[in-house]
Amino acid sequence: MTAPFYLSVAIAAPLNRSFDYLPETGSDISLYQRGLRVSVPFGPRTLVGIIVDIRDQPQQPGHKLKAIHNRIDHTPILSQDIQQLGLWMHEYYHQPIGESLHTVLPVLLRKGSQATASVEMAYGLNTSINEDTLNGLSRAPRQLALYEHLKAKTQAQHKDLTQAGYTSAIINGLKDKGIINELETPSFQAINGSAVQTPLTLNAEQQTAVSALTQAKQFKPFLLDGVTGSGKTEVYLQSIAPHIEAGKQVLILVPEIGLTPQMIQRFAQRFEANILLLHSALTDRERLDAWLMAAHHKAGDKAQIIIGTRSAVFTPAPNLAMIIIDEEHDASFKQQDGIRYHGRDVAVMRAKLLNLPIVLGSATPSLDSVQNALNEKYQHLVLRQRAGNAQDAQLKIFNMKKRAVHHGLADELLAEIQQTLQNQQQVLVFINRRGFAPTLYCPDCGWIAECKRCDAKMTLHQKPPHLHCHHCDNKNPLPKQCPECLSRDIHPMGVGTERLESHLAAQFNTVPVIRIDRDSTAKKDSMEALLEPVHAGEPCILIGTQMLAKGHHFPKVTLVIMVNIDSGFFSADFRAMEKTAQLVLQVSGRAGREKDQGRAYLQTEFADHPLLHLLTEENYHALSLALLDERKQQHLPPYGFQALLRADSPNPKEAEQFLHRVRELFNWHQQNNQLGGITFLGPLPSPMELRAGRFRSQLWINSSNRKLLHHFLNMVVNGVYEIKGFNKVRWSLDIDPTDNL
Ligand code: ADP
Ligand code: ZN
Ligand code: ZN
Repeated sequence: MTAPFYLSVAIAAPLNRSFDYLPETGSDISLYQRGLRVSVPFGPRTLVGIIVDIRDQPQQPGHKLKAIHNRIDHTPILSQDIQQLGLWMHEYYHQPIGESLHTVLPVLLRKGSQATASVEMAYGLNTSINEDTLNGLSRAPRQLALYEHLKAKTQAQHKDLTQAGYTSAIINGLKDKGIINELETPSFQAINGSAVQTPLTLNAEQQTAVSALTQAKQFKPFLLDGVTGSGKTEVYLQSIAPHIEAGKQVLILVPEIGLTPQMIQRFAQRFEANILLLHSALTDRERLDAWLMAAHHKAGDKAQIIIGTRSAVFTPAPNLAMIIIDEEHDASFKQQDGIRYHGRDVAVMRAKLLNLPIVLGSATPSLDSVQNALNEKYQHLVLRQRAGNAQDAQLKIFNMKKRAVHHGLADELLAEIQQTLQNQQQVLVFINRRGFAPTLYCPDCGWIAECKRCDAKMTLHQKPPHLHCHHCDNKNPLPKQCPECLSRDIHPMGVGTERLESHLAAQFNTVPVIRIDRDSTAKKDSMEALLEPVHAGEPCILIGTQMLAKGHHFPKVTLVIMVNIDSGFFSADFRAMEKTAQLVLQVSGRAGREKDQGRAYLQTEFADHPLLHLLTEENYHALSLALLDERKQQHLPPYGFQALLRADSPNPKEAEQFLHRVRELFNWHQQNNQLGGITFLGPLPSPMELRAGRFRSQLWINSSNRKLLHHFLNMVVNGVYEIKGFNKVRWSLDIDPTDNL
């Protein structure tokens, strides 16, 4: 008779603790380990849980415990480092342990699917084939063709063969003759890289960076701070080369829209390694298959390059040697729902847990990372020059005061566009608003098309014509007259991509005018199709939103016009200027990436803004030092630490009342524990109070001491879960929030 034992199980429920269960009747303790999934009864439901502890005493003695239904896995699904990462998220983000551990898993594993890869039927040639049978194939030309096909490829999946026109009859014909064998292959295919391209000769700055990176054998974060086109990617390639040669794994995180075919191709052409892509367009099944492929990598296997967006930071990788985060400042690394983790911070923590080097690369590093480089937490590697022969683009402020402007664009800049096209070069016009115009209005009575479910205007779209709320996706038909005063004279107000497109198409009707935004690229692969004339190098005009700002290499673009960057100057978000500067440089960095020098114009009404001059006359680094100075004086991040409690409800005032209760709880704890050094702000209405039919409110918690902030949160968070009587309220806690929305 063995001693009784209890399983503490983490369940994805909004309850801030784990739950104890009895093991399966009669099962031995040796069958259980931390990180194993189990299926458990939870109220009337059956849920997937993860064992986080095995105890000889239950957490709450005296309670009647239920037994688990069964074990889902026989070995832990979570590797040690990913388990630790999940537990770190639980502590650092103050989120329930179950939700933290579920967040690190692919969706299908959260739902209880078996951790086995899906397989696809495939065929290969038999090793011993009868000569006579083979000769006989001359009478069956299709079968012969298939034989030749497989001889060249060694094996092929059934679906690829049918796609290539080999019917089941042809396949079965060869199978019956014993020429081919049926086999199973993993249905998820890695990209097979081949080392067809040789490394470039590095310039001195690149060489210094690569040496530092290849020498690092332990945990060490690097900030690779290099202007656009300075050859950061080449530095990544050469610093992972030794790891690839040694058959290791490398993890590369890229922003949501940074995963361009060009980027993937550069890795695929440099290394004979398998490349696993983990992006948001994968199905849950594909994601799990890729996850398993990474998890099962063994010493002696071909090296693996794992490239993915934010959540790829949780990909298990038993032979991981290095982590890279490209465009580390990018907003898409921050998760904005569920557990609001920052992919960059999680990646640094993972590198620390595994004792590995990690590189954060950017042309416009976040102020947090600049600060970490200044205080030498990160080693600062700088690439000041563009690589090869390319020169920096000239960045010019274009004062919009007293100018003739049509459809958002100064007439004088039309001449610049004309000149650029005549020189057989390309133009990029950046505007961060899709649709035709930000809204529709009536000059007679002042009516503006507003969303009923949000404190926001409806965007006017012409292709196809409708009103669309970009905040809640609400769509309405275009009114023919003003709904208030019935005037038929209603007008678009402001400019969006569609409007600029029609303006420029009318002005320059001999060249392609290409609009790139979320609407024009909604279909898969449509972006690359639209960009064909651009890649072909013919004179053309590109109009686009953020989507164009990153990753793309347009050698023929020499003129960039940014239509309106002014929102960054009067925003309530203290990060607005940082974000604007990053955007300006990302966009202007598209110009003149090869031998022709580029120019970028910033249209603005605030041409005298000192920070703007710092950016154009000096550089981003100078601007970031100035911005850091401001932050320091105001005790704002990275010199202060913040947590943000957001709440919303369909009932007006309910979220605010809830946060008042939270605030009382906070005040009580603060007084009883004499915690000076923590300040609260709120409850305040959110900048867009009504959104998608919910009224939103926020409460800020600030401290200049990170430890103190977390100590305080540890004390109070459970109390927030226990506040009763606000049934319609949803709330969330955001540690290190990156916006005030
Ligand atoms: P980044 O990632 O910093 O924007 P890339 O690595 O994409 O820069 O490099 C920009 C361009 O310069 C690319 O066309 C690349 O092939 C080229 N390049 C990079 N390093 C060198 C080098 N050492 N010599 C010549 N060309 C280079
Ligand atoms: Zn009207
Ligand atoms: Zn709306």
